Amino acid sequence: MKNPENKVAVVTGGNSGIGYATAQKLKSEGATVIITGRSAEKVEQASKELAVRGIVADVSQVSAIEHLVSQVKELYGQIDILFVNAGIFAPAPVGQISEEMFDQQMGINFKGAVFTIEKFLPILKDGASIINLSSVNAYTGMANTAIYAASKAALNSFTRTAATELAPRKIRVNAVNPGPVATPIFGKTGMPEEQLNGFAQAMQNRVPLKRFGEPTEIAKLVAFLASDDAAFITGGEYNIDGGININPGIM
Ligand code: NAD
Repeated sequence: MKNPENKVAVVTGGNSGIGYATAQKLKSEGATVIITGRSAEKVEQASKELAVRGIVADVSQVSAIEHLVSQVKELYGQIDILFVNAGIFAPAPVGQISEEMFDQQMGINFKGAVFTIEKFLPILKDGASIINLSSVNAYTGMANTAIYAASKAALNSFTRTAATELAPRKIRVNAVNPGPVATPIFGKTGMPEEQLNGFAQAMQNRVPLKRFGEPTEIAKLVAFLASDDAAFITGGEYNIDGGININPGIM
């Protein structure tokens, strides 16, 4: 990243997993980093560990995002990097999709992402970089992921339009589509451990590189897209998935 010491980065959902690793990476490159999350306790702990500022904000509440933006504006004025990462994974088969589960998943993964960008726009510097954390699920028909996948497909669609519309301000908007990454997200589904292990094994078997990704690997791609080295990249989507999206199925 060029001139990272002059850059201010906001990482939503930065207290855990991919967001945590990315906050660490951006900070190590000299950026001033602000992480957000839903749980006050977890945000406080992570911000202490990372030595960055932590602000509690539930992205499913537009008023909470507005409050977050006003705090960031007061402290830092404008920002250079917005990593829209907060998300949840709530698997359920078609036929057992509840309205609550639909609203929760779309509300965080899609509506939350859209309004994070909407509300941060006035304090994004011209030339800023927005990176949306999507998923290869946006393109797959993996069982039990209909709503999760739709929330990420919607996010990728939004990314393309936003990239076009924000180009006059030289704001770049890109999406990153990870395959399975070893983070606490799966443990939060409420699946019993045995089922979780079976799910992880089945998933790993489908990855041509035969492993889960590490959060630090995603962080490196996000940091690149945030940097001036990626100055000609906008409206793009980058799979980082051990090849799962091109798995021919006979492996
Ligand atoms: P994680 O559970 O470790 O982290 C998720 C983060 O999002 C946490 O910091 C959590 O506090 C935050 N968050 C959740 N709901 C929130 C809300 N309402 N308001 C504010 N913050 C909220 O999981 P992760 O795997 O690091 O997930 C990060 C992103 O990566 C998500 O968008 C997820 O969909 C995406 N993703 C993960 C994988 C994977 O295999 N782990 C694969 C593809 C995409």
